[in-house]
Amino acid sequence: MSEIHGFAVHAAGAHLLAYKYDPGELETHEVEIKISHCGVCHSDVHLIDNDWGISKYPFIPGHEIVGTVVGVGSGVKDRTMGERVGVGWQADSCGICEWCRQGQEHLCAKSQPTCVGRNGGFADRVRVNSRFAIPIPTSLESENAAPLMCGGITVYAPLMNYGVRPSSRVGVIGIGGLGHLGVQFAKAFGAEVTAFSTSKDKEAEAKELGAHEFVNTRDTGALKKVAGSFDFLLSTVSADQDWQAYVSALRPKGTFCIVGASPSPLQIQGASLIHSQKAIAGSNTGSPHELSEMLSVAARHGVKAVTEKFAMAKANDAVTKVKKNQIRYRAVLTN
Ligand code: NAP
Ligand code: ZN
Repeated sequence: MSEIHGFAVHAAGAHLLAYKYDPGELETHEVEIKISHCGVCHSDVHLIDNDWGISKYPFIPGHEIVGTVVGVGSGVKDRTMGERVGVGWQADSCGICEWCRQGQEHLCAKSQPTCVGRNGGFADRVRVNSRFAIPIPTSLESENAAPLMCGGITVYAPLMNYGVRPSSRVGVIGIGGLGHLGVQFAKAFGAEVTAFSTSKDKEAEAKELGAHEFVNTRDTGALKKVAGSFDFLLSTVSADQDWQAYVSALRPKGTFCIVGASPSPLQIQGASLIHSQKAIAGSNTGSPHELSEMLSVAARHGVKAVTEKFAMAKANDAVTKVKKNQIRYRAVLTN
């Protein structure tokens, strides 16, 4: 097979530069995918900047990939040439641990992220274990589906796994790439949905996407006004926040679930969890099975990413806009 061309980062915080690598022989369990679209997740920005100390340079970012299968390893039985598939945060797992055998591959200790120690989707092609190449329902457009592969699953899985239902009062904090999908999925679950945002100008769009209420978190006292209101709060914000105020905004037995990676330790009074039996939780993307389920729910309920398109060669422009919180609501690179 020929070289793969993409855009790589060579040092923390550096600009992406044109880059090529030789992927070698296609392994028996792998598929090769010709990429048509790749979303820009804020996790790509964290990896580019080495915020988590796990980045391995040089690497090609990108883990919200949609494309067509153009190579199938000799041992692959689940994918075929020409199929349209998506790839998210995970490209491989051990396949034999208790978590893999339960279909919870995203919890595998040997889980391999798509662009940590390997090259991701800001490129013309990518290779992954075929188990992590997920067929895309025909009714979804590739451009709107790509952001579902990480942003979508990361908000769908906790709504599902923490039992959100029609009677639930749900708050989604941060209306960015993840949050604007979280509002749509929470509405599809039948919940009453509140959007929490620092951007006043997002109110009308958040309501169009399905939010019943909008809280401008820059307003003094805004969080106090909603004390005791929510069964489930999902924070997609990558910055430190008033954690205690959000715990206070929960109803008894409510859960505050964190999917956005904030830099500092959380400051929360233990006593504020005890009395009303509140919980703090986290959630990590989702399994291949959950990805398939999420895509079919998105197709049936009309959940789709609102996108801003960039040519692949303009990846730096997209990353800069993501850093400035100027994208409405997900940048998608196209080949
Ligand atoms: P994004 O598109 O940049 O959206 C984040 C949103 O957070 C912004 O649009 C903004 O919404 C809000 N925000 C930004 N800065 C803020 C600040 N200083 N204070 C309060 N709110 C602020 O990012 P994303 O792609 O949705 O990703 C969000 C986070 O989730 C990142 O940390 C990412 O690494 C993480 N993530 C986690 C997982 C997982 O598996 N757990 C998966 C994917 C991503 P408003 O304008 O509405 O305030
Ligand atoms: Zn992501």
